[in-house]
Amino acid sequence: MGEKKKKIVKTIKVDLDKCNGCRACEVACSAFHAAPKYSSNNPARSRIRVIHEPLRDVYVPVYAGEYAKAECMGRDKYVIDGKEYDECSFCRASCPSRDLFKEPDSGLPLKCDMCEDDPPQEKPLCVQWCLNDALTYEEREEEVEEEVKQEDVERGLDSMIDKYGLDKVMDTVTRMALSKKG
Ligand code: SF4
Ligand code: SF4
Repeated sequence: MGEKKKKIVKTIKVDLDKCNGCRACEVACSAFHAAPKYSSNNPARSRIRVIHEPLRDVYVPVYAGEYAKAECMGRDKYVIDGKEYDECSFCRASCPSRDLFKEPDSGLPLKCDMCEDDPPQEKPLCVQWCLNDALTYEEREEEVEEEVKQEDVERGLDSMIDKYGLDKVMDTVTRMALSKKG
């Protein structure tokens, strides 16, 4: 068993019944992440997008999640209040099958970072600007096993492999291991 360490888990609870589709969250997020901060706003750069399908009459704020290099093999289909939504409608991934959660100019993936800032924001910007209280921010402390670090290593290696290729990364690791031994 590894050592325990404390971790802050941040959550944003989304209450669909309170969301009226005003899109203030999209504007606030894109302005906060503009460079320089607040210099512009463009919902296409937001890390939260409000999915609306008029015929089915629901607004669903969806947060940008992980980058996916390839389309996944399966497809999600949601039924809410008896109404069926299009495939992938509420998926959080920035994936090649659609334009959602990609920087409009560069195509780089966007991911919600919970408005990390220094000094930290009291609440994420989308929560602050949702005047209908559809978004509620919560933090809790959890004890986690040190093994979590292994996931961090794997994630880091994954992105290195994406960037430089498996062979290059393997060569470098082997060379470093040999030089440490020798
Ligand atoms: S938490 Fe911050 S980064 Fe994430 S969607 Fe809301 S405003 Fe954007
Ligand atoms: S600001 Fe709140 S009410 Fe407006 S679209 Fe976003 S989540 Fe919905």
